Amino acid sequence: MIVAANWKMNPALAAAGVLARALATQAFPHIQRILFAPHPYLVPMSVRLSDGDVRLGGQDCHSADSGAFTGDVSASMLRDCGASTVLLGHSERRAAHGETSHIVAKKAAAAIGQGLDIMICVGETKAERDDGKAEQVVIDQLRVSLPAQVPASKISVAYEPVWAIGTGAVAAPDDIAVMHAVIADVLEERFGAEAVPPILYGGSVNAENASAIFAVPKVRGALVGGASLDADAFARICSAASRRAESGIAER
Ligand code: PEP
Repeated sequence: MIVAANWKMNPALAAAGVLARALATQAFPHIQRILFAPHPYLVPMSVRLSDGDVRLGGQDCHSADSGAFTGDVSASMLRDCGASTVLLGHSERRAAHGETSHIVAKKAAAAIGQGLDIMICVGETKAERDDGKAEQVVIDQLRVSLPAQVPASKISVAYEPVWAIGTGAVAAPDDIAVMHAVIADVLEERFGAEAVPPILYGGSVNAENASAIFAVPKVRGALVGGASLDADAFARICSAASRRAESGIAER
């Protein structure tokens, strides 16, 4: 199980430091935690996380390693600032920065080339779901976003229905199960049944609904936006993931 915090363009630096110290001083067995921090915060957060087991990631990277790309950051810069992973293809970047799945694949290849792990986001809009296209949209996004040469061990996928992000409208467990099964099929086709990378759910996950989401088949964690800015709420989500992971181990 993976629980990842996506702080987006939040919070102020002082509050970020307090949140990161809370993350570093807590421990949750059987789960991996990741903090996707704003790029200027990577170095200060890497210092604050240094005595804990939380991994640090960037929220995007460029596909080139250097050059005339004002305002962008490269995968090697993320790595040099303490990141070991990067979030790619978030719907906010797809929508606000015109990021296509082809661009995401190039960024993913660059990140892998620099030794970073990648978390690729996919998800349908409300209009696409209402049109009955949710499954096909997500299949197409994922197939194109995955670069040609990528080891399964370097990847995770976050299924994030766009209409559920930041709205409080969490997807129904049955719908999450269907979409995760569809994503697992694509990953199995690509990597084989024994090497399907973790698939996380994202979209209005909070301390109250996390356990029910983690009980859905093939859900291996959560990408958490708003609730990750509240140390207590995020800790409760991590606790729920930890319990789920423990019961999974007991079932085996
Ligand atoms: C996100 O931005 O990835 C996200 C899931 O946000 P929220 O949890 O606020 O819906």
